[in-house]
Amino acid sequence: MVSSPFDAWITNDSEVTSLLAQEWERETTTLQLIASENFTSPGVMAATGSILTNKYSEGYPGRRFYGGNQVVDEIEDLARRRLTALFGADHANVQPHAGASANVAVYTGLLNPGDTILGLRLDQGGHLTHGSPASLTSTFWNFVSYGLTPRSDDPANPGELIDFENLRELALKHRPKLIIGGATAYAREIDPVPFREIADEVGALLMFDSAHVAGLIAGGSHPSPVPYADVVTFTTHKTLRGPRGAAILCREEHAKKIDSAVFPGMQGGPLEHAIAARAVAFKEAAQPEFATYTQQIVTNAKAFGASLESKGFRMVSGGTENHMVLLDLREYDAELTGKVAQEVLDRAGITTNRNQIPDDPRSPFITSGIRVGTAAQTTAGMKEAEFAQIADFIDRVLRGRDNETVVASVREEVAALCGQFNPYANFTK
Ligand SMILES: *Cc1c(COP(=O)(O)O)cnc(C)c1O
Repeated sequence: MVSSPFDAWITNDSEVTSLLAQEWERETTTLQLIASENFTSPGVMAATGSILTNKYSEGYPGRRFYGGNQVVDEIEDLARRRLTALFGADHANVQPHAGASANVAVYTGLLNPGDTILGLRLDQGGHLTHGSPASLTSTFWNFVSYGLTPRSDDPANPGELIDFENLRELALKHRPKLIIGGATAYAREIDPVPFREIADEVGALLMFDSAHVAGLIAGGSHPSPVPYADVVTFTTHKTLRGPRGAAILCREEHAKKIDSAVFPGMQGGPLEHAIAARAVAFKEAAQPEFATYTQQIVTNAKAFGASLESKGFRMVSGGTENHMVLLDLREYDAELTGKVAQEVLDRAGITTNRNQIPDDPRSPFITSGIRVGTAAQTTAGMKEAEFAQIADFIDRVLRGRDNETVVASVREEVAALCGQFNPYANFTK
């Protein structure tokens, strides 16, 4: 059995210890290309696994329902101060357990049931909580969806970008109470300015869901929506490289409503161990090295996309400006579905996710695309040359998907590459 590098992972439960070691082995010997994942620092993991998991602290610093929260109050205050400083925001709530709960808290805090919300459609890159029929959000609020501009063959203007004309028409027609900017599968920079203009024109509130790009914004690689949006939600575990969880930033005028919507509106006691880990991550994200890291993420994604394009893959919207590349597999191989590609790549130690592409003729379970991201392997130290190599691995595995020898030999090369770029190398026994 491979033993894990952290003493904290040695539990008195051999079954769990063994599974933790197996996951450590998986994460460090295969390529992590899921755009929503990252490798957190040992400091973030230490705080996540800390004694704070014992404490109940319903309420907010200085206003708790149970005793014994002197230390916890300082931790949550520290996390809030670091976060407002990082993004230049008025107010922060660091308690949401996840990105989905942060979004629902904003809707419940600022809207009434049945109010109209304008969000990006799921199959165009929006998130489930932006009004997908499969999400409970669509039961309680009236969602209207905007989309992307049509794809075009003009290389200078490839389309598949947020369609602000469509957004403005829908806003004028439906008079939403809230407009949502932000996406989950969209490889382009999102300019907050036109969103604010349209929101002002129709008297709507503006929420930005920056779950994916929060780290890129913190590092200065992407424009910040904070000066423009009434509320900004994001997860802390994607490009921001913190523990699993989320946070909400808002203008002072909305602070009370947002805080009450999170607790007692939606959640019970906050996870203070995860909040301490968020504080660690916020400090890391404020360092100059983090800005360099986010620039490298974007540089790597551009290089990765270009290499994949040279192998015959089509990038949705013809390019990338963030940490992800959304691939349309149809031109590469009309028979190859996202589902099969994901499964074959998994066998070669390349972890990705199938993803719908705009106007995908296949179902969300099958799909015609895959989404890959550079945030995690950039943390591990990979640069453009390694991503070019990974593009080559992907091409060889998908072309040779019926040949076990090809899959096995790429898997070995993947393990060798990961061995050179182990994010936790310094912590190995
Ligand atoms: C990931 C994501 C979420 C949800 O985050 P969870 O922590 O999985 O609930 C919400 N919005 C967007 C845009 C996302 O990409």
